[in-house]
Amino acid sequence: MIILMHMDATEQEVATVVERLRSFGADVSVTIDEGGRTVVNGSVESLLHDEAPWDSFPGVERVVPVVRGGRRVGRELESENTVVEVGPVSIGDGTLTVVAGPCAVESRDQLVETAELVAVAGAQILRGDAFKPRTSPYSFQGLGKAGLEILAEARSLTGLPFVAEVIDPRDVEMVASYADMVRIGTRNMSNHALLREVGRQSKPVMLKRGRAATVEEWIDAAEYVHSEGNPHVVLVERGVRGFDNSARNTLDITAVPVAKTLTHLPVMVDPSHASGRKDLVGALARAAVAVGADGVMVDVHPAPGRALVDGPQALLPAEFAQLMTELRAVADAVGLR
Ligand code: PEP
Ligand code: MN
Repeated sequence: MIILMHMDATEQEVATVVERLRSFGADVSVTIDEGGRTVVNGSVESLLHDEAPWDSFPGVERVVPVVRGGRRVGRELESENTVVEVGPVSIGDGTLTVVAGPCAVESRDQLVETAELVAVAGAQILRGDAFKPRTSPYSFQGLGKAGLEILAEARSLTGLPFVAEVIDPRDVEMVASYADMVRIGTRNMSNHALLREVGRQSKPVMLKRGRAATVEEWIDAAEYVHSEGNPHVVLVERGVRGFDNSARNTLDITAVPVAKTLTHLPVMVDPSHASGRKDLVGALARAAVAVGADGVMVDVHPAPGRALVDGPQALLPAEFAQLMTELRAVADAVGLR
């Protein structure tokens, strides 16, 4: 919740409000807005339902619920674009960021070979999951910690930082101890316990849009992470479920400029999971860059026919290299460095 103080509120009045918020466990920040008014920002959700009559405190002019008009990830409070640092890579600074790699880490050879090839092609961040959220409990679930060890080895061989999914709040600390960026997948976008947990650690967070989530719900999920103290969030549009099954999902290209208007966070696109079809990946990736995304994340596999997960959407390394050239041309055309 945001508490706007009167222009002539005294220091003591501000201190009383801050103290009261802290007594509820809120993480409180105090800023002065452009007009010189003191703005008190308290982060605990239960405050929204609290009975405390905040607007009757001396010096308080108005209370703004956090849900509309006062989100930390919203443009209302911060007009400058957020730049998220992932190892040596900056996302959202006006450059094109490309994340590439296999859906899952399957073996050391598979991952290291892919990492080396995508690095040569110009990818800046490696992807590969050690924990997979599969629809069936009997499908390959990932190599777990051993997969993270392999990713860390690939990082030291190629210099590429890596992003990996975390699916269980109990694993957040462990995954974050290896990965340069942790990812929340589409199925967990509304898992508030997990969102809070990744918000309590300091590695950047890639937050994929829920497959049936509105843009507002997606942004509120980012707010959960931010509200716990971690402002380093990158949004990823990855397609939503529609009525047409010609592709696995429907890439919501509109969501990219909409999210960029509503938030100051970087927005990327995953054309691989959006389509589930490698023949569509290039067109969707080019469209993503053209519409203003800060980057794309693309599945690449050295032998898609043998992939344990998502083979049909994976590009061969040579196809990925070709796509990189095409994306550079689109990026140049839209002024992305
Ligand atoms: C993925 O990127 O590997 C993944 C599982 O994506 P999503 O959560 O978007 O389905
Ligand atoms: Mn996948």
